[in-house]
Amino acid sequence: MNNQAKVWIEKGAYKIKGEFSTPEPNTPIRRKDGKLCGVTNPRRLVHMHSYGGEAPFFEGLAQGRLLGTQCVNNKCEYKGSIYIPFRIFCPDCLAKMKIVDLTAKARKTARIYSYVVTSRTGAFNTLETPIRFIDLEFEGVSTILKSYLLVGEPEIGQRVKPVFRVKPTYTITDLAWVTADTKKPPKGFHL
Ligand SMILES: [Zn+2]
Repeated sequence: MNNQAKVWIEKGAYKIKGEFSTPEPNTPIRRKDGKLCGVTNPRRLVHMHSYGGEAPFFEGLAQGRLLGTQCVNNKCEYKGSIYIPFRIFCPDCLAKMKIVDLTAKARKTARIYSYVVTSRTGAFNTLETPIRFIDLEFEGVSTILKSYLLVGEPEIGQRVKPVFRVKPTYTITDLAWVTADTKKPPKGFHL
């Protein structure tokens, strides 16, 4: 597509070019006897999703790293607390937190805290079904991370390790998990 939507940054502001809202040919909706009841109105919309302070997390996934944050404020009662999902500010003292690399910790200590197996994720269903959504706990981390298991059947307490998409999409699906004993990464992912 020649007129594909493009977004870049100049002097701290988004600049845009191309088509962000494209109408496509509609079709009639008819009853079996031919009576016209309505039309479809297909539209292609390009949504700009700003990552703001969370951008390092998604850049990290593209580089095969799992980044979290840690409170390093000496005045904070809970100094040292580590968070993933990535939080920018400490929920206790509201200070800006430090980015910490949790890849090694995840490889060594990640366990399934809970899980759900489903065939629907909502719009676009971009994951292969059945989808094994898992809640993950890491040693020494205050929060639970939600992701999905690509290889193996989930069990509560099961040790797992992260895999990363070879061709990053810069979204959360660049991160997936396999059971800890997996030697070969699934297609399209690396360990
Ligand atoms: Zn704090």
